Amino acid sequence: MAKQSHLHCSFCGRNRDEVKILIAGQEGHICENCVEHAQEIIAQELQARHEQQTSQYRFTVRKPKEIKEFLDQYVIGQEEAKKVLSVSVYNHYKRITQKQQDDVEIEKSNIVMVGETGTGKTLLAKTIARLLNVPFAIVDATVFTEAGYVGEDVESMLTRLLQACNYDIAAAEKGIVYIDEIDKIARKGDNPSITRDVSGEGVQQGLLKMLEGTEVLVPPQGGRKHPEQKMIKVNTQNILFVCGGAFDGIDKVIARRINTNAIGFNVNKDEQELQRKNLLQFINATDLKSFGLIPELLGRLPVVTHLEPLDQATLRSILTEPKNSLIKQYSRLFELEGIKLTIDSNVYDFMVSKALEFKLGARGLRSICEHIFTDAMFELPGTSETALHITLDYAQTKFNKSKLSMLKVA
Ligand code: ADP
Repeated sequence: MAKQSHLHCSFCGRNRDEVKILIAGQEGHICENCVEHAQEIIAQELQARHEQQTSQYRFTVRKPKEIKEFLDQYVIGQEEAKKVLSVSVYNHYKRITQKQQDDVEIEKSNIVMVGETGTGKTLLAKTIARLLNVPFAIVDATVFTEAGYVGEDVESMLTRLLQACNYDIAAAEKGIVYIDEIDKIARKGDNPSITRDVSGEGVQQGLLKMLEGTEVLVPPQGGRKHPEQKMIKVNTQNILFVCGGAFDGIDKVIARRINTNAIGFNVNKDEQELQRKNLLQFINATDLKSFGLIPELLGRLPVVTHLEPLDQATLRSILTEPKNSLIKQYSRLFELEGIKLTIDSNVYDFMVSKALEFKLGARGLRSICEHIFTDAMFELPGTSETALHITLDYAQTKFNKSKLSMLKVA
């Protein structure tokens, strides 16, 4: 008995009678309080180490001007969209990092970008994610259907985000999801039809909670949720959703609205024509509603911006100016073979004119380049050649031989 009373916790020094449990080790003892305390320290330490290991996702908040400057290096033109995006992304990440001091809660600033296909919507979202060092996923709105129907659950878009960061949930919860073709889930017509609109309005409804911020159970492998599956819980509170779509025909909706409001149309004919061409700059949420996005969804996408169609000069710049421009990429490929690539400047004009002629946009520039460079990329490696000079004649010959040139322009 007397011996028992000398027992004490070797960590905190408490006596046997001051604690509930005393666990004996080889040389000493530990009490339940110290075990609990140690557990906390271990958890914190492991968490810190985990964060350190995944430090590739330690994002820093960048000022709007810094974001814009970074975007300028990769995306040509689209000034308005870049500015709007820089500000809303900055505000979003400021909101995440702010210490809650009062009851002013900054709301999420999810974004909609409207612009023709191939004008740089995806590129903008991707470039921002790279700058901020946050996980990024691109999903296509057309693959989703309302729960219970053939197709994918909207939650599976978070699977893509998790996969992009190796299932690092904490990182994914600060990531960016780009939802492409958001215009394709517009409500089909105003009349409620007898068949359910499961891939349109149904999907929009499904997106509401997720865009606003909630805990979502995500199927680890994507697709459709099923009961036996173990789900991953992801909080979307701090995930930034950027939506993009071409919204074909929305210019007419804008024109109708502006005409009825008679804003800016009190001008001469030429100016009217100019404005009509540039109608997208007047876009707002009302137009998106008329197009078929439900008001509840639009309420969760407070930032609306537009992208300009790419003109000749912009396409020309896209070829050579961005940090990883197509031409820089081809030069590097040849350089790796010890070959110096030089190109006459009228070749660039030729490429752009073909992209415009075949209505291929910026995406088409790549296939045009492929057609021009493929033969050289096949023939030259392994030879003693150290230079390749592309003249207009060479480019035209190679292009005219390609299948692309055989396409008739409508
Ligand atoms: P969208 O999402 O609008 O359909 P993308 O962003 O996917 O178009 O653009 C397709 C490709 O075209 C990009 O990967 C990029 O190479 C090029 N591109 C398009 N617009 C621009 C731009 N404004 N500046 C630089 N490159 C562009």
